[in-house]
Amino acid sequence: MRLSRYFLPTLKETPSEAEIVSHRLMLRAGMIRQHTSGIYSWLPLGLRVLRAIEQIVREEQDRAGAQEILMPTVQSAELWRESGRYDDYGKEMLRIVDRHERDMLYGPTHEEVVTDIFRKNIQSYRDLPKNLYQIHWKFRDEVRPRFGVMRGREFLMKDGYSFDLDPLAARRAYYRMFVAYLRTFHRLGLKAIPMAADTGPIGGSLSHEFIILAETGESAVFCHKDLLDKTPPQNVDYDGDLEPIFKEWTSLYAATDEKHGPDHGVPEGDLVSARGIEVGHIFNFGTKYSVPMGATVTTQDGSSVPVHMGSYGIGVSRLVGGIIEASHDDAGIIWPDSVAPFQVALVNLKAGDAQTDAACADLETRLAAAGLSVLIDDTDERPGAKFATQDLIGLPWQLIVGPKGLARGVVELKRRATGERHEVTVESALAHLT
Ligand code: ATP
Ligand code: MG
Ligand code: MG
Ligand code: MG
Repeated sequence: MRLSRYFLPTLKETPSEAEIVSHRLMLRAGMIRQHTSGIYSWLPLGLRVLRAIEQIVREEQDRAGAQEILMPTVQSAELWRESGRYDDYGKEMLRIVDRHERDMLYGPTHEEVVTDIFRKNIQSYRDLPKNLYQIHWKFRDEVRPRFGVMRGREFLMKDGYSFDLDPLAARRAYYRMFVAYLRTFHRLGLKAIPMAADTGPIGGSLSHEFIILAETGESAVFCHKDLLDKTPPQNVDYDGDLEPIFKEWTSLYAATDEKHGPDHGVPEGDLVSARGIEVGHIFNFGTKYSVPMGATVTTQDGSSVPVHMGSYGIGVSRLVGGIIEASHDDAGIIWPDSVAPFQVALVNLKAGDAQTDAACADLETRLAAAGLSVLIDDTDERPGAKFATQDLIGLPWQLIVGPKGLARGVVELKRRATGERHEVTVESALAHLT
């Protein structure tokens, strides 16, 4: 992609409406624009990051045995009357009336819709277990939308739902998602800590929030310091027993302020008290929806039992802000390789100079052939301005090409995260990147 043609409306000034760094940087880097309170458009650079996150989430869901579906954003209120949540949900639910005076709503979550799909299509224990997920837009009319995409009203969520025959099988489904979440956040370059959580309006008994630590986090959180050094397992057998992994992570104390109490038992020096951002939340709620909505299966002995369910959310759009909160410096964003909108910024210091243009074209071809995505700065800005833009948008590598270097047979390779710059030959730059 050529920067001269790319829609990248960067801002030099710090937007005054943005209170936290990720919101400021997303606006300055031309990733998003606000449409109205809590509702955003995603511009090309932002959308590439959103899609990259989505893809990692999807791969880890699929690996753990979940299957992707797509449910409607607009739902019928009838289902919510059946589950009993229509009146309980309150003002966060955007209620709509259609032309036939039927009550509709824009989905804040999808337990009812998926339970309805289940009950109409699955009748036998033989068809269990099932785990269905989607990556789709939700609407919640938040009292205080703020911090950009971190607390939007319209936001992208991965929401998954498991269906099992009995509590034990449902627990195993919960463990699978627990481990899939550890792996997902790790691949996103984040340290997300599972913390015991309240189940709130979703209901149920077993629940964990996945929290990343950041000064701008909205909730106070507490955990044993050893949790900060843990990394998830590399190779997971999702058909095997995952309880040991679950126990290993949950035996160390971690709780959000709602659950935190004086009897945590962690020695003073080992307790980390910090601010956290909720990026994921998993629930095991048994038969809370299957009983009122009549989602039952016949068992081996011919009797009929309500199915045991869980639900599993990841804040995909919130993660874009969350990753920036966790990875930036004074100059701008520092994308982890796994979610970077492009892998390499190819900075042409003298666009229009035949030799430099040719060297850049050759590099672009060879980087692309190696499967790397490249953003070429072919504009006629000053070098200083080009460097500032690149540091702002934060691609992992900058490959800087100019006539002076080329005359000596070298280009400059800069790693955004460390700021290290090395003069290297074209061949060794390519060897390093590919
Ligand atoms: P919060 O406590 O931040 O309001 P929640 O507990 O209401 O979130 P859940 O119902 O658990 O949210 O939804 C699953 C995930 O969706 C959350 O963990 C979060 O990452 C994301 N999410 C929830 N609300 C928003 C929002 N308003 N904007 C962006 N992401 C959100
Ligand atoms: Mg909420
Ligand atoms: Mg919450
Ligand atoms: Mg939650």
